[in-house]
Amino acid sequence: MKLELSRVVQGRSRLGVLKRLGRAGQHSLEVPGCLLYTHLGTVPHLTQDTLHTQSNLPSVTQVTLSNIAEHQEVLEEFKDGFRKFSGLHDTVLYCSLHDPATPCPTGYTTNKTVSVWGSGGRIELTVAKFMTLQRAVQPDWYQSMADGETWQSNTSRKRVRKSVDRTLAHLDECLLVHQKSQELEGVEVFGAVEGGDILEERVRSARETAKRPVAGFCLDGLQTGSMDQALRTQLITAVTKELPEDKPRLLQGVGRPDEVLECVDAGVDLFESFFPFQVTERGCALCFSFDVSPDPERAGRAPPAVLELDGEKEMAGETQQNGDLNLDDQTQMTSFEINLKDKRYQGDFRPLVEGCGCYCCKNHQRAYLHHLLVTNELLAGVLLMIHNTAHYHGFFSALREALANDKLDLLKRRVLRERDGQT
Ligand SMILES: [Zn+2]
Repeated sequence: MKLELSRVVQGRSRLGVLKRLGRAGQHSLEVPGCLLYTHLGTVPHLTQDTLHTQSNLPSVTQVTLSNIAEHQEVLEEFKDGFRKFSGLHDTVLYCSLHDPATPCPTGYTTNKTVSVWGSGGRIELTVAKFMTLQRAVQPDWYQSMADGETWQSNTSRKRVRKSVDRTLAHLDECLLVHQKSQELEGVEVFGAVEGGDILEERVRSARETAKRPVAGFCLDGLQTGSMDQALRTQLITAVTKELPEDKPRLLQGVGRPDEVLECVDAGVDLFESFFPFQVTERGCALCFSFDVSPDPERAGRAPPAVLELDGEKEMAGETQQNGDLNLDDQTQMTSFEINLKDKRYQGDFRPLVEGCGCYCCKNHQRAYLHHLLVTNELLAGVLLMIHNTAHYHGFFSALREALANDKLDLLKRRVLRERDGQT
């Protein structure tokens, strides 16, 4: 893996390409970018065929141990790794610990173990079991075992310090096993940076993790709902200062467009793309505008459908401003989306977003989606996921273009206007 930066704006926002990805080194991924979010290798609601009708898809697929751990025996028997097991072919496979869209219960870590939660309940992992699982999964990258239970704002300093110490100890043990394991030759390890909301612990965690032979860094415990954006930005800025320039920084649990932009500004390179899935699950469609083109013909392509949504967005805006800081925030509607279950769409014959090139927008109207949703048709999830995935990855393309053309501030202003319900 090699990170080539083509631009660094104001010393922090980074534009570049991660090259030589995958064991044969044939893949690359543009940054800032995101990984492809999946459940057991599949983007929820979509078959591989449907998924690959889309352009702009990330070349790295994310799977989580919380989903996979209970299938350890089957995978060991299968022998050929999770990529082949789940029918994935030409992709880089990244294995993280927890599913970013499913908050996991806290209070279950010890000095020697962490717990993940799958459909069958809790699975306790020691480093030995964690590494046996990685050998069965055979990913291209994986997140090292980490004690990430310190994201809540009332976590004591002592507990946060313990989490940093444990995570470093887990990383050292994982690296020891990794280096002796033939099956994991060429596989990259991402170290987790912990530290809760305590600046000194964040800096210590970053500094110490950076001393280890890791390929990149997972910024853990900063997810939506754990703290306000100002504090998150402050912590990330302090952390990224300590990390080497030539290795990627992946932020876990943050997916809202406004938060993504703030975090890119603080030096984050990679995100997890679970946000479109959450939007789909609540029967909503992403519809925020991210076009900053001065060309009037082009500028007219995406925004019109969005500009008419003032009234619709009021409710979501209020929810967001008054919402308590907790992980329930992740399931609440944001002002970047419209709720198609709402009766107002019953006779709305426009596409979800005017000018969107996705299959859903080219072939269907809001009224049809409304009908599918109120009658609980499975196709509703399929069509919404097609649109939401396309729209979200389109946003990341626009973000890179804005960085390349000195328009990041303009894009931020546009996205913040969307969030605050001003157009
Ligand atoms: Zn669309």
